[in-house]
Order: sequence, then C-alpha cells, then structure tokens
Amino acid sequence: MSEILVLIERSPSGVRKASLELLTLARRLGTPGAVLFGGADEGVVAELGRYGAATVHAVDDADVADCLVVPKAEALAQLARRDGVAAVLVTSGPEGKDVAGRVAVALGSGIVTDAVDVAPGESGPTVTQSVVSGQWVAVSEVVRGLPVITVRPNAVPAEPVDGASTPAVEPVTVAFSDLARAARIVSRSPKQTSGRPELLDAAVVVAGGRGVGSAQAFALIESVADALGGAVGASRAATDLDWYPHQHQIGQTGKTVAPQLYIAGGISGAIQHRAGMQGSKTIVAVNKDPKAPIFAIADFGVVGDLHSVLPQLSSEIARRKS
Ligand SMILES: Cc1cc2nc3c(=O)[nH]c(=O)nc-3n(C[C@H](O)[C@H](O)[C@H](O)COP(=O)(O)OP(=O)(O)OC[C@H]3O[C@@H](n4cnc5c(N)ncnc54)[C@H](O)[C@@H]3O)c2cc1C
Repeated sequence: MSEILVLIERSPSGVRKASLELLTLARRLGTPGAVLFGGADEGVVAELGRYGAATVHAVDDADVADCLVVPKAEALAQLARRDGVAAVLVTSGPEGKDVAGRVAVALGSGIVTDAVDVAPGESGPTVTQSVVSGQWVAVSEVVRGLPVITVRPNAVPAEPVDGASTPAVEPVTVAFSDLARAARIVSRSPKQTSGRPELLDAAVVVAGGRGVGSAQAFALIESVADALGGAVGASRAATDLDWYPHQHQIGQTGKTVAPQLYIAGGISGAIQHRAGMQGSKTIVAVNKDPKAPIFAIADFGVVGDLHSVLPQLSSEIARRKS
C-alpha cells in the first residue's frame, strides 16, 4: 500500500488533535507515515501508533529547531520524493498552508487547501472543499505530481485503530539549505488560556452574537460551552462591541471553524458569519426571530429568548451528565 505522509503538529500534552484527524483520514488513502519534528519521545510515538501511523519519520532538526517553516517544508519534500508516497496531508492553518505551499512548489505538484473531506479516487485522492462562503461544495483531484492537501481541523473525528501496534521510528537526516536558517524564533511566551479547547481544534463551538445583549451575558454562552467541553466563539457584532475578545470572532474576517457541533446564540446568520462556520457538521441556532437567516442552515433551531433557553440547555446537559 502507498504511504500517505502526515505532518504532525505537537500540543503541550502530546499531539495536536488535528494531526490525529489527519492520520484517521490518511488510513482511507493508504498507510499513514507520520512526519515528526522535535524528538520522537515514547509517548508521542505511541499516540501516533494508536491513530494508525505505521512509521514515524523522526526528523533530526536540532540545528533548525528554532527556525520557522522552511525546515519543515524541506524535510517533507525530501520524504515525499521517495518511491511509494501517494500524498501529503497537512493541517490547514497559517503554518500548515505555508509549509504545504512550499512543498507543492518544491515537488512541482498541485495543491488543494482547506479540504473538509478526502476520499480515495480512481487516480488519486478526491478532495472536497466548502467554498464561496460555504454556499458551494467543490470536489477536485490533483492532476499533476504528488497531491499535497491541507485539511481543516475537525473535518473528521479522530478515531483510534483497534489493536494498533507501535510504529517503527525512522530517523531522517536532512541537508537543510541556508534559506531554512534565514528566520529564527527569538522568544516564545505561553498564551493566557481559559482552560477551554482552542477554537480551531474544538469539536464543539458555542458562539454568541449581538442577541446576547452584553459582555456579562456572554457567561451564558461560556456556561453552555463548559457543559459540553467546547470553545467559545462570537460574531463580529459582538466582538466589535467588545463583548468578547476579537480572537474569538468567527467568519469571513475572523476564524473558520468546522466543529462537529456549532451552537449559535443570538446570531442572525449574515453571510460573512456563515463563511466561518457553515462547514460545521451539526448547527443548532437559538434566535428569537423565526425569520433569522441562521435557521436556513441550522439542523436544529429553537425560536426563543436565549436568556431563557441557554440556562435550560446548560442544566439539562448537567442533569444528563450526572
Ligand atoms: C467585509 C465584512 C466582513 C465581515 N466579517 C464578519 C465576520 O467575520 N464575522 C461576523 O460574524 N460578521 C462579519 N461581518 C458582519 C456581518 O455582516 C454581520 O453584521 C454580523 O455577523 C452580525 O452579527 P450578529 O448576528 O451577532 O448581529 P445581528 O445581525 O444584529 O443579529 C442579532 C440576532 O440576535 C437575535 N436576538 C436578539 N435578541 C435575542 C435574544 N434575546 N435571544 C435570541 N436571539 C436574539 C436577533 O433576532 C438577531 O437575529 C462582516 C461584514 C462585512 C461587511
């Protein structure tokens, strides 16, 4: 079976969930080969094996560890040039797209970005994208070179393999170019965290809009998010009003999320907001206006005042959990 290279991103606790989703997708296409930077520690290797990695290509990056994306692109391109590789999968995001674009140029290959699904096709992977603010679905194939595909987080649930075995670790030495050392990270500082999952990684996103009514009332949104272990999002109207920080804005000029569950409270569903959440698997909307456009894309809608609906939702979730 052909190898599908997956660029692994790390998280403070091990492997970023989005990378485990990529391994899950890669299993549909061939044999997943994880490309790992920063040392192949036992726990990380075991986790990659649980999600189907047959091989871990451990890149010796000691002399470029503090450099930006070029070393990753050069290592990935070197591995991709070997016989038996059928595709390269990278997580969509600023860094992932930067790496993937460089790999595609180095290989002379076609690239498809922001995939929401990838399936085996007759002559290579078939890639699905949600385009034009989520109004259309495009299905495409790379017709030149090795397909390089970036996949949005949460496109598929990360599924472990039954009876997985520990992958073989293959050290990879790369002759990095001078360009790879051209930019270096000079300091890192940890982000203040709320303890909630990252918006882009979260399987559940609960978002509030102008209908929430005030910054204080965003506690209602947070309480549903916490009950479901989700992240908090907001419409631009809410962030422009300073009711919630701008980094939580979802939409055309904010973040694009595609969680398994998106709950929109007091959000009208303007096209610019939909552009950032229409790829969500299940959309639930709470809005007091039955004609609100969000209901046109909602799988489940509640017409009502969110100040009364959301507390009931939180307590029902708590009741079922207990
Ligand atoms: C170039 C451009 C880029 C943009 N980018 C973005 C973007 O990235 N993200 C984004 O979100 N917007 C973006 N916008 C703005 C967008 O057009 C909308 O103005 C915005 O999404 C509206 O936010 P909202 O739905 O929270 O507010 P509104 O449109 O004011 O809707 C509020 C909703 O809350 C409901 N409501 C009110 N009270 C309650 C209650 N008590 N209970 C339940 N429901 C209630 C109302 O019925 C209404 O449907 C952009 C606009 C432009 C022009």
